[in-house]
Amino acid sequence: MSRTVYVNGEYLPEEEAKISIFDRGFLMADAVYEVTSVLGGKLIDFAGHAERLHRSLALLDMRQPVTDEELLAIHRELVARNGIEDGLVYLQVTRGNPGDRDFAFPDPDQVKAGIVLFTQSKPGLADNPAAKVGMKVISIPDIRWGRRDIKTVQLLYPSIGKMMAKKAGCDDAWFVEDEGVVTEGTSNNAYIVKGGKIVTRQLSEDILHGITRAAILRFAREAQMVVEERAFTVAEAQAADEAFVTSASAFVMPVVEIDGVALGSGEPGPVTRRLREIYLEESRKAAI
Ligand code: PLP
Repeated sequence: MSRTVYVNGEYLPEEEAKISIFDRGFLMADAVYEVTSVLGGKLIDFAGHAERLHRSLALLDMRQPVTDEELLAIHRELVARNGIEDGLVYLQVTRGNPGDRDFAFPDPDQVKAGIVLFTQSKPGLADNPAAKVGMKVISIPDIRWGRRDIKTVQLLYPSIGKMMAKKAGCDDAWFVEDEGVVTEGTSNNAYIVKGGKIVTRQLSEDILHGITRAAILRFAREAQMVVEERAFTVAEAQAADEAFVTSASAFVMPVVEIDGVALGSGEPGPVTRRLREIYLEESRKAAI
């Protein structure tokens, strides 16, 4: 069934939505994005995603084409028009269409940033059966660029990583650099649990500042759990009691195997299961 999508001020059937071949998002991956979950027809942590969008745009000297109020209204309108109960809203802002290909950025007064939003329906998103069995991950070298804290659409290597995982009979890949130190997953932040303590890499330019990560760490601390923000290695993860990843679309997803080594019991652990429960409960309550 055809969706209604939003492109540069217009709501259109998806077949009629068009972007120029000169759009810099298409030619240069000169674009940033956000993905916001929808549960029960409501947006999860919209404020967090809007804030990170501001940051990504500011770091790339790009202007936000619509106000935050308009952005929220567009999200809600698309959710309503497409009857999304559970799913996602994808948002992309590009540096726009200068009418030709050129490495230099166009003057933002002459060329307006472009904006596209669409929904993806995912019935039962919060009841993903994968959360019951957990994921198997492989580790691969992190050869991405040095500003992974900016949420750009340069997703070729994460896509290659996902394919390498599939080829190895696994679900996802964790990026590693500096002798086996884990940065993050292809599209999620990575955590281990040892002796009840939750360990996840500290924020820097090396990883994306996950909106789900921020929420999880807040909920964990509120529940009196111990959190340590520091780097960890694949070997440390393999010796951990539990591991998991977080993202806006997967929430909290258990990891039960890393590079062929089963963690703990080989099943999703109690800390991971509890955090998933708390996250879903609190996020649903705060959804708008
Ligand atoms: N790290 C990377 C590389 C990602 O692509 C994502 C999400 O797309 C995340 C972490 C998780 O971020 P969030 O929780 O904001 O979805």
